[in-house]
Amino acid sequence: MKKLLVIGSLNLDMVVNVDHTPATGETILSDKMNLVPGGKGANQAYAAGRLGADVTMLGAIGSDTYGDIQIESLKKAGVNVSGLIRRKEENTGIALITVNKEGDNSIVVVSGANGTLSCEDIDQYSSLLQEADIILFQLEIPIETVLYAAKKAKALGKTVILDPAPVPKDFPDELYRYVDILKPNETELQMLTKVSDMENRLCEAAGLLKEKGVKNLLVTLGENGVYLDAEETGVCQIPAIKVDAVDTTAAGDSFTAALAVMLARGKTLKEAAAFANHVSAIVVTRKGAQSSIPSLSEVQKFI
Ligand code: ADP
Repeated sequence: MKKLLVIGSLNLDMVVNVDHTPATGETILSDKMNLVPGGKGANQAYAAGRLGADVTMLGAIGSDTYGDIQIESLKKAGVNVSGLIRRKEENTGIALITVNKEGDNSIVVVSGANGTLSCEDIDQYSSLLQEADIILFQLEIPIETVLYAAKKAKALGKTVILDPAPVPKDFPDELYRYVDILKPNETELQMLTKVSDMENRLCEAAGLLKEKGVKNLLVTLGENGVYLDAEETGVCQIPAIKVDAVDTTAAGDSFTAALAVMLARGKTLKEAAAFANHVSAIVVTRKGAQSSIPSLSEVQKFI
């Protein structure tokens, strides 16, 4: 089995259930808050660990109890945490998440230590990049660090997977060159291409990214499954599994992780996407981020 490395963010999620997502200027009440480990990077590493992968996490946390909670959680999922850097002067990142009755979420992230992950850190931990076969990135750490690390990973001949979330204003097109698989959701695809009306113009937007040099594109479409435009598959779509969604937090993160885990096990991109589709379908039926991610045996039973 190939080795995975996740380079990215770790947050403590403060999840609040609400009747509806508050509008600008609106105050609403909620009767409950759950404190759970999250962050796109940590979610991906956690999911890969739960799904039985050999996975290491490289990222920055504070020297606070939230950092301790993250380490414990990742260790429990079998993730190698030797790449977690503890900052004395920073707090662990925090995400404020509201989940509405339909299961849709909106999120504000306070970066904290995640914002300090630097190119020097990547150099200091370059042995982790060398040892890995597949390297996963998301965009909750400084974009210049992602660009630097992805370039380095590519130069080392690694497979680079980018989940471009959240899309920064200054997304550098150069990054596409170092990415083997790009996995945006519809909103991110729209932000990357400036193409609106995704329902009717998905192919057009995908085409624009292919023109920019993206080799393999997978667009997750929520309850509509996943769209593929890849070297191996051509253009095709895999429908979502029919489930009752209660909370979509970590749906995309778990999809990306599951995809990488199956590629690490030698599956084709289409097989890996079909597996990931099942994993994310389970995730949306459960509340929380990491707490919603199933083990490999749970997924096998579900399939
Ligand atoms: P993100 O979490 O990044 O917004 P999506 O909402 O596109 O990502 O969802 C990622 C994946 O999760 C989808 O491609 C699908 O496999 C699964 N998924 C999301 N919502 C549902 C749903 N309502 N029913 C079944 N599967 C879903």
